[in-house]
Amino acid sequence: MKRIRPLTLAALIVLSPQAYAQYETSWDNSVQGINRISEHVYRWGGGAMGGISGLFVPTDEGIIVIDGPGNPCTPDSGQWFRDELEQRYDVPVRYVVLSHDHQSHICGTTVFADTAVVIGSRKLRPHLIREGRVAPVPTVSFDGSLDIDLGGVKVVLHYLGPTHSDNLIVIHIPQDGVIFVPDLARPHGQLPNPDFRDMDVDNTIEVLGILSRMDDVDIVMPGHNSPVSDQSYFRRYRDYLATLRERVLDHMVAGRTLEEILGLVTMDDFGDYTNLGQVLERNVITMYDYLYRYREPNSPGSLPIRATQ
Ligand SMILES: [Zn+2]
Repeated sequence: MKRIRPLTLAALIVLSPQAYAQYETSWDNSVQGINRISEHVYRWGGGAMGGISGLFVPTDEGIIVIDGPGNPCTPDSGQWFRDELEQRYDVPVRYVVLSHDHQSHICGTTVFADTAVVIGSRKLRPHLIREGRVAPVPTVSFDGSLDIDLGGVKVVLHYLGPTHSDNLIVIHIPQDGVIFVPDLARPHGQLPNPDFRDMDVDNTIEVLGILSRMDDVDIVMPGHNSPVSDQSYFRRYRDYLATLRERVLDHMVAGRTLEEILGLVTMDDFGDYTNLGQVLERNVITMYDYLYRYREPNSPGSLPIRATQ
């Protein structure tokens, strides 16, 4: 039977982490599906989507969808998700929130464009158009913060400046203590970024500190994989990024080449990251690139990449 679960008194109470034991904060990444992770918030993902996840918030007045199940990406790759929502609820999707421009996180949202207002940061729109992303272009863009109030649930969107891409936003549902931070969070023990190609490293370090101290956060929802995480994830990743930055920078100031630095920076003290060996080389190369554009050495020398004549 289709119906919206009525709001209960529990929604008005600040829940302890233990209170979330009744919900599903871990799932099989290989299985496409939907899990309830808090009073008002559900997670979708898995299966052919390569472990990518997003959220939705069903209310009596409509549904808020956050990101889309589009990996592999086709124009109708969100259809299974729309079918699921139509079977479960009598109300339409009223809002689609796009976390950032990366295709694998937002493809699949076009299937909701007939009923939903599409929202993203002001920086998102040019990426979607230039890259030809398979996603609707936002009709509502914002800087700073934006609240969505629907059916008794408040979803707060924060743009904290350029971090992982120049357009990533974080999505916070304070009354449930849930925050969604795709690609700056993963389950504990997993580094989130294979490289820093479009990252503002310095602001990311600042933002990870802000996220680690944010109030009303019990559950950190990553954009990939299971289980959910918590704010200690941000502190650890902030330490990793800041330490890698300082080590690479020290070697650059000492005049070492990228090849030498790749052999010297091992990050063994962060060996608790199980994917460190898979990402370290690209992390160092793209950190070097970021810092190359940050500093002017006393003897500038030549560009690291030889210009062809
Ligand atoms: Zn991304």
